[in-house]
Order: sequence, then C-alpha cells, then structure tokens
Amino acid sequence: MAPTTLEDAFSKVSPAPAIIVPSTPALTVSYQRLAADVKALQQQLAALGVGAQSAVSIAIPNSYEFIVAFIAASWQRAIAAPLNPAYKQSEFEFYIDDLSSAIALVPRGAFAQDAAAVRAARKYKAAIAECYWDGSKVVLDVKETGKLAGKTSPVESAQPEDVALVLHTSGTTGRPKAVPLTHRNLLRTMKNIQATYQLSPADRTMLVMPLFHVHGLLAGFLAPLASGGSVIVPSKFSASEFWKDFAQHKANWYTAVPTIHQILLRSPLPSPKPEIRFIRSCSSPLSPKTFHELEKTFGAPVLEAYAMTEAAHQMTSNPLPPGKRMPGSVGIGQGVDVKILDDSGKELAQGKEGEICIRGENVTTGYLNNPTANATAFHPGGFFRTGDQGKQDPEGYVIITGRIKELINKGGEKISPIELDNVIAQHPAVSEAVSFALEDELYGQEVGVAVVLKDGQTLSAEELKTWMTDKVAKFKLPKNVFFTDLMPKTATGKIQRRLVAEAMLKKEQ
Ligand code: ATP
Ligand code: MG
Repeated sequence: MAPTTLEDAFSKVSPAPAIIVPSTPALTVSYQRLAADVKALQQQLAALGVGAQSAVSIAIPNSYEFIVAFIAASWQRAIAAPLNPAYKQSEFEFYIDDLSSAIALVPRGAFAQDAAAVRAARKYKAAIAECYWDGSKVVLDVKETGKLAGKTSPVESAQPEDVALVLHTSGTTGRPKAVPLTHRNLLRTMKNIQATYQLSPADRTMLVMPLFHVHGLLAGFLAPLASGGSVIVPSKFSASEFWKDFAQHKANWYTAVPTIHQILLRSPLPSPKPEIRFIRSCSSPLSPKTFHELEKTFGAPVLEAYAMTEAAHQMTSNPLPPGKRMPGSVGIGQGVDVKILDDSGKELAQGKEGEICIRGENVTTGYLNNPTANATAFHPGGFFRTGDQGKQDPEGYVIITGRIKELINKGGEKISPIELDNVIAQHPAVSEAVSFALEDELYGQEVGVAVVLKDGQTLSAEELKTWMTDKVAKFKLPKNVFFTDLMPKTATGKIQRRLVAEAMLKKEQ
C-alpha cells in the first residue's frame, strides 16, 4: 500500500546511507539508525507532554538533529514548525505566538546564551529544549517545561489528515501567512517530486536550501529521503565547500534558487568534473541566460520548477530529457492541475494571460487564523489562486509573467517586471537586474530598475535605454535606472521587488 503518513514513508529501509553530514569526520547515518534516533526522540517528546497536534518550533540550522526532530514531531502527531534560526526576538515572538508553540527546540548553547528564540519561547511559556548531536546520539536537553509541565502524552500514530507542518509564506507581498500542511499534502508533493525527477535509492542530493522553507524541506530532504536515496546536509551553503562535498560524497543532483546557481557559476569547478544527473531551479525566476550558462558549464539538464508554500512546494516543473525543457518557462503541471483563470474564476482562452490557479492533493485547505485571506484564496471548483500572473503554451508549459501585486501598471498598461529583468540581464555589462514599480504622478506607476554591473564594467542609464530600444516597446523603457553593488535579497535568496524599490529610493536620498 502506498504510504499515507510520514511515519509510513520513513519506516521502510533502504540500503543507501540516509543522511551524510560532511563535517570532519563526516557523519554517515543509515536508514535503520535514523529510524532508531527518531523513535528515541519521539519518546522523549511524548514524555515531556508533546502530543497530538502540539506545535513544535524548530529553530535549528540545517543539521542531522533538525532532520531527526522534524520526523520525530510528525511521528508523534505533533506539528513541526521550522523557524529561521537567524530571526530577531520580535520575529520569533510573532511566530511562536502565532502557532501557540508547545515547545521550542534550539541549538546547543542557545539557552546559556539567552538567545532570541529562548527569550521569545519563554515569553509565551513554550517549553525550551536544546537539541543537538553529541557525537554519538541526538540529545534533547530540556531547560524549561513551560506550559507542558507535569504532563505526558501517549506515543501516537499520525493520521493522513493531521497537520504535520506549519510554515509561513515568505512575506514577499505582505505579512507572512501561516500555512498548515497535512501528511496527505506532504506525501502528495513527495510523490510528485519523486515522479518528476525519477528519484531512486541511487540518487544523492546536496541540500543547500534552508530547511525552514518548503523548497529545502520538500525537494531537498523529504522527497529524496522517501525515495530511499541519500541527502548530504552541510550546515550552510558555502560556495568554496560545495563542489568539494559534492564530489567527495558522490552527489548527483541539487536544487536551489537562481542566486545560488549564479554563485556556483562563479566558483571553480572541481576536476574531474562531477557527473550531474540534473540541476533543479525553483522559487525565483531563472533567466534564460543563466539557464544556458548553467547547462553549458555543468553539462547537465537544468529543470526549472514553480512552487509555493500553500502547495507544499512543487506545482510545475520542466521534465527530464527526453522531455522538452523550455528556458523561461516553469514547465508543466506535475501531478497538479493548472488553469489560467480571470478574476471571476472563468477559464481564459489558450495562450491568454491571467492568474495561474492550481488544484491538487498537495494544496493546503486554507491559512491558519486568517479568514480574510481564506475568503478569496480559492475559486469555486477548488482552484487555488497563486497570485501569480502567467500563460500556458499549447503544450501546457507555464510562463510566469509576474506577481499580480508586482506587475507594473503604467497608466493601465501592465508591464511584466520579469520580462524586463530578462532583457536587461542580456546586456554584456550587466550581472543582475531587478525591475519594479515606481510611483509616478503622470502614469500612476513607472518602471524602475536596479542594476548590478559585472566587475570592471561601466554603463550609463542612457546607454542601457538606447540598447533596449529595439528589444522592448518604448513604453516599457525604465524611467529610472539605479546602479547598485548589491541586490537586496531575503534569507533564502529571493527577490522582493518592493524592498529593492525601497532600498534604491533610500540610497538616492
Ligand atoms: P507571500 O505569499 O507572503 O507574499 P511568497 O509568495 O514569496 O510570499 P513563497 O510561498 O515562499 O512565498 O513563494 C511562492 C512564490 O514564489 C510564488 O507564488 C511565485 O511568485 C514565486 N516563484 C516560485 N517559483 C518560481 C519560479 N520558478 N519563477 C518565478 N517565480 C517563482
Ligand atoms: Mg505567496
């Protein structure tokens, strides 16, 4: 029978190593050992009073203990809530309060240092425990029992409709929204990802994305592990260590945001060049220019995918060869129905631009404590509104043209910022370009663009506009070009156009 919970998914045994942590010496954990460590931690959580649907905040960086804690929470019918360990106190307070966390797991030493996560957990009376690998086992060192004091919970088996994970959206277009995802939602994405990339026990992936977002969690950890393959888990992404670890631990694929691919393109490749089965790109637009550079440099197919928190990550992807890869497109629905709808939920004619809407077993049933967002989240018929604008070609390949909230509306004329980014990135002097809306008295909105030049290159705003004239319609030419050394990005390397605009305007003052 196909697995329906994370407990089923991770109870089977594979001969490949489950987890490899490339420290010195490297830690290699078998599937049997992983299951035993998970069981032991689950029992400790139960003894502490963590029970069915208690929220377990995990504020630990990528590590073996994170992986064990995440699976243990799900096996205990609890809800894992990974948090960015770099958050400031007010951010931890927001998330711990929003979830009414029963317990916060923090790294070794965090309690003694009175870390921000510890202070925030104490404020909301969550239990606090340091969770770490001591060289031979995963330790749960309980520092405060908070509101769990004196209780114990039975060790319970999770059900497919139990919430296994709550993550917040990235907050690109407003305040982050809490998204509950059930075992059923997660299992569906895991199966979809396994099928898209034909993952098997022979595959080894380098996990470079943080585990506190769906990208790293689903595509970098849960799906490859449920396929019986191996996951290599460095504590953080390091361009200088990446290829060394990749070669040493015989990785054959990785998934990352375009920013990381660009950093890797600039880092020296090991010799001999590693055999890469495929490279997956997701979470931000991959320019066709970077797509071609990646394929040429690394000699592997580049598969761009499209994902969001509400869909438990993946919705579409370009297929493996011999399937067709289309640069500039995020590919086709992968176990997910995709439709382009208008505001009223009516399907648009083939090729027309509208809102990308999706339906599938992976999609959340709605946001937590957010009736306003839930009221408009779905169209009748169960299609979830992604908030992204796009179109489909006759073969179903999806082309994203922008976020509805980020389209530049110049006097009623909608301009796709992604299209402009891709055009400007082709200028030989340009390393990166991000377009955004600027308030404008005459048109309401005008086009602004932030540009990072390649080392040693010079370019003026006028030269750039002249170069663009035969590439885009005149009304799309930027009114203001801001040259900058650094493009502001989020913790996961995503572009927030709103923040780029604010940063550029501030610099000008
Ligand atoms: P919020 O919903 O809080 O504003 P967010 O939408 O950035 O933040 P996530 O769920 O992390 O939060 O990101 C999903 C979004 O990322 C998608 O809706 C889409 O806009 C963007 N995205 C994902 N993959 C791609 C891709 N390959 N190309 C372009 N955009 C992408
Ligand atoms: Mg969103």
